[in-house]
Amino acid sequence: MSEVSDKKLTQIWGEAMGDLKDSIGEQSFKTWISRLQVVSFEDGVLKLSAPSNFIRDNVSSRFSDNITRIMKSYGCIVQSVHVDVYDNNNAEISEKSEVSKKDNLSGISVLDKRFTFKNFVVGKPNEFAYAAAIRVAESEVPAFNPLFLYGGVGLGKTHLMHAIAWEIMSNQPKKKVIYISAEKFMYLFIKSLRFKDTMSFKDMFRNVDILMIDDVQFIGGKDTTQEEFFHTFNELVDNNRQIVLSADKSPSDLERVEERLKSRLGWGLVADIHPTTYELRLGILQTKAKEYKIKVSNDVLEFLAVKITSNIRELEGALTRIVAHVTLVGRPVTINVAREVLTDLLRSNERFITIDLIQKRVCEFYSIKLSDLNSAKRHKSIVVARQVAMYLCKEFTTKSLPDIGRSFGGKDHTTVIHAVKKVKEEIQKDRVFATDLEILTKSLEN
Ligand code: ADP
Ligand code: MG
Repeated sequence: MSEVSDKKLTQIWGEAMGDLKDSIGEQSFKTWISRLQVVSFEDGVLKLSAPSNFIRDNVSSRFSDNITRIMKSYGCIVQSVHVDVYDNNNAEISEKSEVSKKDNLSGISVLDKRFTFKNFVVGKPNEFAYAAAIRVAESEVPAFNPLFLYGGVGLGKTHLMHAIAWEIMSNQPKKKVIYISAEKFMYLFIKSLRFKDTMSFKDMFRNVDILMIDDVQFIGGKDTTQEEFFHTFNELVDNNRQIVLSADKSPSDLERVEERLKSRLGWGLVADIHPTTYELRLGILQTKAKEYKIKVSNDVLEFLAVKITSNIRELEGALTRIVAHVTLVGRPVTINVAREVLTDLLRSNERFITIDLIQKRVCEFYSIKLSDLNSAKRHKSIVVARQVAMYLCKEFTTKSLPDIGRSFGGKDHTTVIHAVKKVKEEIQKDRVFATDLEILTKSLEN
């Protein structure tokens, strides 16, 4: 194949970029590739556009071969890769708005091929959002308008939106789907203003069946864009077209967004994605681990699920590193190796709970002195407090047993093991003790 239709191209590009990300790594991908737009593929020439000269030059010199190779695996024989710049008041822009008139959705609707419903692990925190997304993807007419997905970073909003797009593209191929970030929406809008070409901007959105805008919190404080967004929104809703939005906050909590828009955004179905639970984290890890051909023991997966609580993106990152390590070293990973490989990640995830904090809270709780806690004293109340503190350090920090022992006035790691065992038994036996621990745990978290 030396050329393909625009729609097909966008889709191939989306998939190819997923592969490229895997091959060059997340960081390089983010820096150099993620903001490229695919413009056309004709006569063996793949045209891309980049946001800056710097990126253009780097892509041309460093990534042309990778791109050529990956496009080939999708049946596109690229003879040369041609990169232009789409910003910088460059003449490219007017050419681009011609392109958008022709209904080319370059750069828009670039979908990650891994973000499908099939790859989405469902658990308590996201089951509602998931069900709503499925419903939208399956409905012929808008189920609820808009569907507003919200939740913290890395919890799966973009994944669900892409999944909706993939589903509709395969089951209702006649439907026109646009997925676009709010940032890109604004960029296109401003560009159309600058080139007095708002008609083609409006046209582009007027004909869609499903419009998905990601990260709408971005339009906060951007009044003209909000105004335009409001009109686009109303027009589509009036014409019975489905709208799906995502943000990091609920409509009513969006900052610097006009009241009338906020209230409009909340009219349909608002579905939030809650922070992950241990079960969901473990489920995701098990699913993703299976995709790799390498075996990672359940102990290690459980360790990751306990320690990496921030978000799913980081969790995936951790697993990828573990797998890379196994591949390179050729030996199975133990918890200790995992701890080493992931030192920085683990540290950022335990930002709040440190051994110092635990010791301080435990001393307050049991009204004892820190010096006693870390002494060799065997008075019963001190021993209990010390064991509880050691147990909490084991549960809530990533420190190794010897490290924990050392922080308690140079105790041996076997003392820590004994303490952890003792506390676990006591929790089972003694309701009051169990409640004490719950209270202590809460005090650590805020
Ligand atoms: P957000 O848009 O909310 O910031 P993303 O949708 O980009 O988050 O998700 C971050 C990463 O976590 C992606 O790689 C995504 O595939 C993965 N992910 C999120 N939720 C799930 C889930 N429930 N099952 C599997 N992978 C998930
Ligand atoms: Mg996102």
